[in-house]
Amino acid sequence: METFYRDSWVEVNLSAIEYNIKQLRQRLNSETKIYAVVKANAYGHGDERVAKKALESGADGLAVALLDEAVKLRKAGFTAPVLVMGWIRPEDAPLAAEREIAVTVFQEEWLRMVDSSQLSKPLKLHMKWDTGMGRIGIRTTEEMDRILPLIKEQPNFKLEAVFTHFATADEVSLNYFEEQEKRFYKLLSHFERVWSGNVEFHIGNSAASMRFPDRMKQYVRFGISMYGLYPSNAVKEERPIDLKPAFSLQSRLVHVKRLEAQESISYGATYQAENEEWIGTIPLGYADGWIRKLQGMEVLVNGKRHPIVGRICMDQFMIRLDQEYPIGTKVTLIGKQGDEEVTTDEVADYLETINYEVPCMISNRVPRVFI
Ligand code: PLP
Repeated sequence: METFYRDSWVEVNLSAIEYNIKQLRQRLNSETKIYAVVKANAYGHGDERVAKKALESGADGLAVALLDEAVKLRKAGFTAPVLVMGWIRPEDAPLAAEREIAVTVFQEEWLRMVDSSQLSKPLKLHMKWDTGMGRIGIRTTEEMDRILPLIKEQPNFKLEAVFTHFATADEVSLNYFEEQEKRFYKLLSHFERVWSGNVEFHIGNSAASMRFPDRMKQYVRFGISMYGLYPSNAVKEERPIDLKPAFSLQSRLVHVKRLEAQESISYGATYQAENEEWIGTIPLGYADGWIRKLQGMEVLVNGKRHPIVGRICMDQFMIRLDQEYPIGTKVTLIGKQGDEEVTTDEVADYLETINYEVPCMISNRVPRVFI
């Protein structure tokens, strides 16, 4: 671990990652394999350590959003299959081929622009079908008919897989999910008529793979729930598998003082003590991703909740304490202390966002410690 000199850190519990993958493994059919989705620095958890643990725990491949993320994994020595799920520049295809990184294809123009004479190894392709997400992918059999010959005519192109992504697999109503499934099978029946060759399919994210394991194909793409979070409240209530959160955010009191009644705290002097109060200072702020909107949220000290008072600064914020505590006392911003817990879901609710965003927004300035 890199040395650091600050008293705020993210704790990543790698045994939770292992536990969550094993829970999913038990629920899936034995022939369904798992891509561990480690894009965005493993949803803010730390891509290399999470990828290593995921592969040791039963994942078969790694999926990221960007070519940069895939190259980073290869440079770190990962030899497992790596898939870039987003668009890459056609001029970067030779790098992907060289590094044996599978890339996503769905545009005719893109296939024409790749200079196959520049490919030192076969380029692994996963064709994306847009069955209703409306983001990237082909939408019609006509588009498929224009794309497939372009793949076929290049001996250096290897169509490894076809995939799609669900927009509402985490919702109570299955109408749109099933509509996407219908479109997928319509495209699939056409594909099977026109393409011969061994191709794998992957359609499911965390929600689809946990809820509908029997409808999954050769692979699933397991993201948020590998980190121990349910993709939505609906899935959390349904609880198809048990999950353990891997992410917690910790700090320590670096200053404790007594404030007189009517004295103020932080920029704008917006908080005024009503009585004499103990105030603690925590060395974490909006430059760390602990954004100003979190003013008023509670954190844990000594197993009890204490409110954030005054505006959150760039590098520090203050809390109202129930008593004096020594400098160095542990503060838990996300995670458990005794019987009390502030969950990632609670922080997400407070920010009126989704749990996915919370670990992603804690910046790289906060060291990740793996336990
Ligand atoms: N597949 C694709 C194409 C994605 O973009 C994502 C993440 O957004 C995932 C799979 C993983 O989704 P989840 O984190 O909900 O499991």
